[in-house]
Amino acid sequence: MSRITLPPLPFAQDALEPFISARTIAKHHGAHHKSYVDKANALIAGTRYADMDVEDIIRESARDPGAKGIFNNVAQAYNHARYWESMSPGGGKPQGALARRIKDDFGDLAALDAQLQDTGEKHFASGWVALVWTGEKLAVVDHHDAATPVLDRHVPLVTIDVWEHAYYLDVQNERPKYLKQLIANLIDWKAASARFDALG
Ligand code: MN
Repeated sequence: MSRITLPPLPFAQDALEPFISARTIAKHHGAHHKSYVDKANALIAGTRYADMDVEDIIRESARDPGAKGIFNNVAQAYNHARYWESMSPGGGKPQGALARRIKDDFGDLAALDAQLQDTGEKHFASGWVALVWTGEKLAVVDHHDAATPVLDRHVPLVTIDVWEHAYYLDVQNERPKYLKQLIANLIDWKAASARFDALG
């Protein structure tokens, strides 16, 4: 049974323009993300991973030297699903409990935004930047390649793709520009606030 799915985009392909083009979204979701999903399903079929939850597959395959391909593709499928749900054309501001927690842990939203930007700019090569709930506090973390906060049992509230395919068609090598536009205009803080509330 196929456990990994390609979630539909929560916005129209051109909804994030002018910051992220429809061309980038079409390729990123329809080719990159779809490829990770298809490969993940092909690789787990008939293995002990086939009936596990996605997060269990990620944690178990990370410890299995024979399951590198499973880890990479399942973790990338998971990370991309988190990325799409982290953006919306409306953006908005953190609300309720998340807004209060940001004040406690970062001082204010501008300080958190600056930390997301700085971490994304300094991340070397392909990977991910996320705002996570560690179980005790909010934190900005970065991960290489397919690695994910799931490995640390952290909950990603906002996930940002810093692989070149996320921005190269639009801004070429200018990752700082991609980050700045995304952080200022596209983070779906309403959805992140709801995810934080759902943690109880
Ligand atoms: Mn990507």
